[in-house]
Amino acid sequence: MQRVLIVGAGFSGAVIARALAEAGVAVTVADARPHVAGNCHTERCPDTGVMVHVYGPHIFHTDNEGVWAYVNRFGAFRPYVNRVKATVGGRVFALPVNLHTINQIFGTAMRPDEARAFIAARAQAPAHGGEPANFEEQALAMVGPEIYAAFFKGYTAKQWGCDPRELPASILKRLPLRFNYDDNYFFHRFQGMPEAGYTALVAAILDCPGVTLRLGSPVTPGDARAGGWDHVVWTGPLDAWFGHDLGRLGYRTLAFERFTHDGDWQGCAVMNHPDPDVPYTRIAEHRHFAPWETPRGSVVVREYARACGPDDIPYYPIRLAGEQALLRRYVARARAEARVSFVGRLGTYRYLDMDVTINEALKAAQSLILARKTGAPPPAFPVDPL
Ligand SMILES: Cc1cc2nc3c(=O)[nH]c(=O)nc-3n(C[C@H](O)[C@H](O)[C@H](O)COP(=O)(O)OP(=O)(O)OC[C@H]3O[C@@H](n4cnc5c(N)ncnc54)[C@H](O)[C@@H]3O)c2cc1C
Repeated sequence: MQRVLIVGAGFSGAVIARALAEAGVAVTVADARPHVAGNCHTERCPDTGVMVHVYGPHIFHTDNEGVWAYVNRFGAFRPYVNRVKATVGGRVFALPVNLHTINQIFGTAMRPDEARAFIAARAQAPAHGGEPANFEEQALAMVGPEIYAAFFKGYTAKQWGCDPRELPASILKRLPLRFNYDDNYFFHRFQGMPEAGYTALVAAILDCPGVTLRLGSPVTPGDARAGGWDHVVWTGPLDAWFGHDLGRLGYRTLAFERFTHDGDWQGCAVMNHPDPDVPYTRIAEHRHFAPWETPRGSVVVREYARACGPDDIPYYPIRLAGEQALLRRYVARARAEARVSFVGRLGTYRYLDMDVTINEALKAAQSLILARKTGAPPPAFPVDPL
């Protein structure tokens, strides 16, 4: 394995490219977009000076010391704590649901034990007597009807475009409910923002002898197969490698409505809007993602979720039963492909945070380097997508 093509210059492609190049492989990284960093791309707004997260807000958070050390090798990080608010029925609440939220919504001043007992009394077990079978049943069993209706029901219906009763309970099992005043959105030990933005960070990862970068270069599977490469790493959509011939893996996409403002528009980085009669899900004000900067104005973005069409950017994999079945069929075919590895959020059809993406990319690179040493065929999926 001397010449490798990597399709995609997001975190997945960049991390693998660097590791392979450091191991002596000649790597070409091609991306259809005119910039590196994939969906984590940041760029400065020329009118206001604000660093904008172009494909939606990205906050780096991890418990993985190795990944934290890795990203800090390529750029300085500033401390950043993600604190999200929600506007519901014309009032503002703290998220994630914590003691403050509970006291706000019920007009109380409960202490932790009182609130715990109060919420336990509000919680509603499913009428069928079994374990919660869907998102709504899980939410009602965890937080009761008031908090569910205020923060989860409308937001989830807008985000996923369906009734929460059609979604699995497992989605809500991951959301925290706190009986103290901690409103830090993430539990992870390390949290921060790259001072110069994510695009500079990924550019620094790719800045390595042995890496050739081709931006604005969409790669078709036919190009990749015919290019005479010893191996191809595909971080594009798994179904795109097969021309979507079994059908499209379903995604939700986002539409962004962006405007500028002279002062501070909402006073925080992210304001959720769970009310069902508000068409957007949240508003991000990007100057607050870099609180150490003093920009001239503000960039504000309303976020609308909708079904992903063939020309839209795929954001959130839906992964309900139908998509899982289709995924299994594509995975079986991909495993039979020679000289291609599928990695990253699109190549494995999973939602991956940046730290998980980087960790998996480092592992994928190790498995490719090992295959190169032993002469064994590299795995089609260094990380199992099922
Ligand atoms: C709205 C949103 C918010 C998020 N917020 C956070 C957050 O706060 N914290 C966090 O840790 N993670 C967050 N994430 C997750 C983060 O975006 C991913 O972890 C990361 O983007 C995955 O990197 P990747 O390289 O696998 O994929 P991508 O970043 O999508 O990169 C894939 C690249 O491949 C290119 N490509 C695809 N097909 C082709 C082709 N045929 N030819 C050439 N190029 C091609 C694309 O142009 C793209 O640049 C968020 C995700 C979303 C959707």
